[in-house]
Amino acid sequence: MSPNSYDAIVVGARCAGSPTAMLLARKGYRVLLVDKASFPSDTISTHLIHPPGVAALARWGLLERLVATGCPPIHTYAFDFGPFTISGAPGTPEAPVGCAPRRTVLDKMLVDAASDAGVEVRENFTVTEVVTTDGVVTGIRGHGKDGHSVAERARVVIGADGLHSFVAKAVHPEQYHEKPPLLAGYYTYWSGLPMDGHFDTYVRRARGWAAWPTNDDLTLLVIGWPYAEFEANKSDVEGNYLKSLELAPEFAERVRAARREERFVGTAVPNYFRKPFGPGWALVGDAGYNKDFITAQGIPDAFRDAESCVEAVDATFRIGRPFEAAMAEHQAARDAHVLPMYEFTTQLATLEPPPPPLQRLLGAMPGDREAMDGFARVNAGVTSPAIFFSEENVSRILAGAR
Ligand SMILES: Cc1cc2nc3c(=O)[nH]c(=O)nc-3n(C[C@H](O)[C@H](O)[C@H](O)COP(=O)(O)OP(=O)(O)OC[C@H]3O[C@@H](n4cnc5c(N)ncnc54)[C@H](O)[C@@H]3O)c2cc1C
Repeated sequence: MSPNSYDAIVVGARCAGSPTAMLLARKGYRVLLVDKASFPSDTISTHLIHPPGVAALARWGLLERLVATGCPPIHTYAFDFGPFTISGAPGTPEAPVGCAPRRTVLDKMLVDAASDAGVEVRENFTVTEVVTTDGVVTGIRGHGKDGHSVAERARVVIGADGLHSFVAKAVHPEQYHEKPPLLAGYYTYWSGLPMDGHFDTYVRRARGWAAWPTNDDLTLLVIGWPYAEFEANKSDVEGNYLKSLELAPEFAERVRAARREERFVGTAVPNYFRKPFGPGWALVGDAGYNKDFITAQGIPDAFRDAESCVEAVDATFRIGRPFEAAMAEHQAARDAHVLPMYEFTTQLATLEPPPPPLQRLLGAMPGDREAMDGFARVNAGVTSPAIFFSEENVSRILAGAR
């Protein structure tokens, strides 16, 4: 192996990896980005991008490209709890809307943006070994489609290789705040189910679902049931999916009038934080932190993680800040930012009825524009649950309803 052919090797080229590689290359670093997949390709994930994620795409100069794909903006989030609905605007003046590009569209755009920035991109390249020298990660070994084994070296190897991260398995990071899978989710795409810029969710006993528009005039409809039902319901996903919708008869009627265009896809995921760095390595995106998809935070989280990790790596390479210190700060900022949302998300993912105080609060919101927008923004990851559910804000909402 030649010594340090690259400043950074990024393993995984989707929401976390391509932006990480792109941002490093834009700072002048020599970057290799590898993925065992080729692009465009799909992956198991729905793809609502809340306003903070759309804002990141705008910051990176990619929003126009996205808009040109015909992906519609999403300006309203509505939460139908049965007896009442909370409907609000998820955005802010700076980041007013969400959107939901197909992963075939989004991930290809991100890989292309990395390549445009000067990143060397190798698709169909599977990493099979994380190479270490005296306890420090110094490179990777892997192969392309021809199976020929290749080794590459870098000053840092960044695992952006998702939930089942190969890099994480190799470096054994500390794992914390772990929770088991809580929810099983299944989704598919429908034509003839117009959403008019809405992300609509329905919350019922032991069921929750959401629908929103994506490319090609299709609507994604995802339904979740408790993880305890995952195995039993596998034998009839379609039947259980359609039966769940009957808990909101008017919506079920709309779906009966629509047409399913694709197969059902579903999964359940564990919840964890991982220490995102060690000697010569880092983890970004799901490789470093994963949470249930019920609040759809993964893509904006991956974008924010990429930006923050790149700042830390840059501080080390450019001004010689110790890697350990720069990355520890990055980890602390990540954890502080996402922990309240992690707790909120994993509570929602149980699909258990909200505790009585939360039920009272939710019931007080309809008609209170500030509260409804605030609730939409909490779900959009714009406002921290720690702020929205603070004593002061809760008292204000409850007082307004009296
Ligand atoms: C059912 C479901 C629904 C979701 N819905 C949403 C949503 O609506 N909105 C949202 O924001 N988030 C959602 N998420 C979360 C979102 O999908 C993830 O947070 C996001 O994809 C993380 O991006 P990533 O780049 O970290 O990982 P991934 O997107 O998983 O990408 C990892 C990449 O690494 C590559 N790779 C893995 N191992 C290797 C190897 N050994 N060698 C080379 N390449 C390798 C893979 O091929 C893959 O391309 C959902 C997740 C699930 C499971």
